[in-house]
Amino acid sequence: MDQKELVKALMAEGLLKSKRVTKAFEEVPREEFLPDALKGLAYSDTPLPIPGGQTISAPHMVAVMSEYLEVNAGQKILEIGTGSGYQAAIISRIAPRGKIYTVEVVPELTEFAKKNLADYKNVHVFSGDGSIGLPEYAPYDRIIATAGCPSIPKPWMDQLKENGRIVAPVGGMYEQRLILLEKKNGKILEADLNFPCVFVPLRGLYGWR
Ligand code: SAH
Repeated sequence: MDQKELVKALMAEGLLKSKRVTKAFEEVPREEFLPDALKGLAYSDTPLPIPGGQTISAPHMVAVMSEYLEVNAGQKILEIGTGSGYQAAIISRIAPRGKIYTVEVVPELTEFAKKNLADYKNVHVFSGDGSIGLPEYAPYDRIIATAGCPSIPKPWMDQLKENGRIVAPVGGMYEQRLILLEKKNGKILEADLNFPCVFVPLRGLYGWR
């Protein structure tokens, strides 16, 4: 498959829905976020290994999470688990006037992602434990986690704006389900999106230690 065919397939499966997320998928070349040896597999809908023993998520996973996040063009967004930087690049194109802050705990990957994201000027990559969020730039309109959480860390809820949304995989170390958390009138509403997934575990203070 090439990029166009992958986008078509994801649309046909009903996973890419909105214009803005679809456009972002057409604009961001996934091969630029892969190690040289794997660039040829960029448009297979599968997770792939990246440095540090981690993985770049499968395109369908990035599509589903990006759709549920409902990002608007000028918003401030926090991502936990930068990995390759691909998900951050997609959000950067969905929110061209916004700001994306992304935190990665593996230093080798922070460097890998910074290189991959050099052309995405509204993405800022940080090294550290994102399980505590990124208080320096809080509050955020949207928070997305791309590592499996035992539960949604309290600091993320505190760093979320009113009417904000969090999308995260929550569950066990080896399998999770996508959860949507919303803050409405100061209250936290949690919904199970009924989408099973397998992410690498969230590390750090609020993760699997
Ligand atoms: N969004 C990435 C997928 C990354 S896989 C992409 O598009 O490629 C999940 C990443 O979360 C891994 O790189 C892992 O190192 C990172 N991670 C795990 N625990 C973390 C933590 N507490 N803080 C920040 N990053 C973390």
